[in-house]
Amino acid sequence: MGKSWLSAAIINRLIFKAREKSAPVFRIEKFTQKNRFKSLIFTVLSARTKDETTLKACEKLFEKFRNATELASANENEVEKLIYGIGFYRVKATHIIQLAKKLIKDFKGNVPANFEKLISLPGVGRKTANVVLVHAFGKDEIGVDVHVNRISNRIGLVRTKTPLQTELALKRKIPKKLWSKINIAFVAHGQTTCLPKKPKCNECILIEYCKKVGVKS
Ligand code: SF4
Repeated sequence: MGKSWLSAAIINRLIFKAREKSAPVFRIEKFTQKNRFKSLIFTVLSARTKDETTLKACEKLFEKFRNATELASANENEVEKLIYGIGFYRVKATHIIQLAKKLIKDFKGNVPANFEKLISLPGVGRKTANVVLVHAFGKDEIGVDVHVNRISNRIGLVRTKTPLQTELALKRKIPKKLWSKINIAFVAHGQTTCLPKKPKCNECILIEYCKKVGVKS
């Protein structure tokens, strides 16, 4: 296993710098308040949607439906209206109602702290399960979304094509004690500095390590 230069100190600096720049991802913590159900629903709804948009939709949704029991008996059209604006809102409305029903039926209304059980829920894939295990349960996992995938490849930590390949490659390279901070650090960095189209390399703390793969100067 090749060691990486990524250390706890560098990850913490990435998080610190992105907090200074008010990365939207940090507003999620304030919204979920360590509530596991909120964390799960937010993560399901956030796929292919900006965090700011997902936050607005979630605030409206949770004003009306506060827990799994209430959401399980929700009207689908009403949920669609509340989350309108997020990507694939119709499919996601169906998923989160079905998800709430399954939580009630199979897990006594609780969010399970187990990867296999999480991915058995409607709308929950690998990334969502890992993100929830980290943020709601404090487990050592790496949730790979578009930011994590892009940045891991750009900086030259991995050379992969899919999120699954990236997750497995990162897990081989990075010590387990750092896994839980990778998602938040890279998402925050991707929202504020290493932007998808125009990365702000001149203000980036990774400049001395970054291989800038695919970045045009
Ligand atoms: S140096 Fe540029 S490409 Fe590399 S991580 Fe920083 S912003 Fe992204």
